[in-house]
Amino acid sequence: MDRSGQKRPLENLFNMPKKPVISKSSFIKGKQCLKSLYLQKKNPELQDPISESQQAIFDCGQNVGELAQQLFPGGVMAAFDLPEGFMKSIHKTRELIEQGNSIIYEAGLMHENTHCFVDILVKKNGKWFIYEVKSSTGIKDVYIYDAAFQYYVLSNLGLEIEDISIVYINNQYIRQGNIDINQLFNIESVFDRIIEIQATVKNLLSNQVEALQKPDAPNIDIGKHCSDPYDCNFKGHCWKDVPDYSVFNISRLRAEKKFDLYNDGILNTTDVPDEYPLNTNQLLQVHADKTGEAIINKPAIREFVNKLNYPLYFLDFETFNPAVPLYDYSKPYQQIVFQYSLHLLDKPGGQLQHKEFLAGTKGDPRIPMIEQLIKEIGRHGDIVVYNRGFETARLNEIEASFPKYQTAIENMISRIVDLMIPFQQKLYYTPEMKGSYSIKKVLPALVPAFTYDDLEINNGGNASLAFANMLNETDQQQINKTRKNLLEYCKLDTLAMVEILRVLE
Ligand code: SF4
Repeated sequence: MDRSGQKRPLENLFNMPKKPVISKSSFIKGKQCLKSLYLQKKNPELQDPISESQQAIFDCGQNVGELAQQLFPGGVMAAFDLPEGFMKSIHKTRELIEQGNSIIYEAGLMHENTHCFVDILVKKNGKWFIYEVKSSTGIKDVYIYDAAFQYYVLSNLGLEIEDISIVYINNQYIRQGNIDINQLFNIESVFDRIIEIQATVKNLLSNQVEALQKPDAPNIDIGKHCSDPYDCNFKGHCWKDVPDYSVFNISRLRAEKKFDLYNDGILNTTDVPDEYPLNTNQLLQVHADKTGEAIINKPAIREFVNKLNYPLYFLDFETFNPAVPLYDYSKPYQQIVFQYSLHLLDKPGGQLQHKEFLAGTKGDPRIPMIEQLIKEIGRHGDIVVYNRGFETARLNEIEASFPKYQTAIENMISRIVDLMIPFQQKLYYTPEMKGSYSIKKVLPALVPAFTYDDLEINNGGNASLAFANMLNETDQQQINKTRKNLLEYCKLDTLAMVEILRVLE
């Protein structure tokens, strides 16, 4: 008898399924959208290519999963490379269970047409404990369904499940010395929550099987479900009739309202009825699209420009945020500054100077970075950034980790001016900005000759990935190439600010 009161014989793990096979990830996909599940099984060629950032999230999950195995040392790995090794994993898990192994990593289990992998399966006093590892810092609702599906498969196989827990990252852990695995992870039982939804799991499964047995994909239109809880990998297919710029790009418009407009057949911002309820900034955006006119609030921009105190230091940080802290005095997923670019303008129309920092691959980048920055940024004059929340937060974090820099950092923070404000407040808006005030959209709208398109690294996410990959790179030529690309990219970010200010002036 297990904790849910069920008693079942251990079934043959090799009952070959006659119905469509549903894995844990298929089940979660089908719960999000039956059409997505159907397309995944029947028309996988329609899915979007995996982006570099998605691959990085996947790799991070793998690494965290392997680290969490140390919470239960001495286990045996049941996984083989997928997809070829799928049945081997199922066989091996069965053998390991029958041989009395009490800790199995990546156990593969199959019941009729359902199967799943369990990150860590542990047997204590004749009862089984399931541990599902997540690289996130909390328990999301979708994880409960993940675990509920695992329980469904394992309990139907006759395994007595005593408890099922989510293992996730403790974002309050501060590294000091070697990683303390027990502090890095939180382990939380979700047993009661998954038992409550077993009937729902069964119903969802039967709907999924039914949908997969039909000749055509379910007729499901796009909606909020396309990104909740995950970005669907069939958006390229289902959203193909939505233009690149549409009502879905109206700045800060709630998703419900975007889909209301879509469901009324309104896709282009120029077709939004004049009486449709929008806030002031949204109305400005739609009005600019309809008239093609730029909005330039000259008195407010003049006031912004006149308040600037020279010399001006245009500063931009690049960061990466490893799930498992690499350096002492840092937390999981903390943004670590590894690079900055600094353009210095001593007076209006003066000579522009450039300074930069890019960390090497050894040691904590924050210390050489802040020491060089303190020397180069002086004590007077405004520090111009784009989105002050980001740079300020990084400086505050460095101050918290290394209090000896407190005075210099507080001086810097007191001098920060945010160049994003005129665009965020739509003091300056042109239809080319497409509802966005990000520097990547503002720059080409104001200075068309400047573009990120020709750069190998052309956004912060790629810069982050490039630096993280460089830490494990051994080929010096590749390291040199990445360093050159990173320096070019970050330099353009601060040069962009200089150019944007020139236009405002
Ligand atoms: S893009 Fe949306 S509608 Fe299309 S399959 Fe994915 S979730 Fe379903």
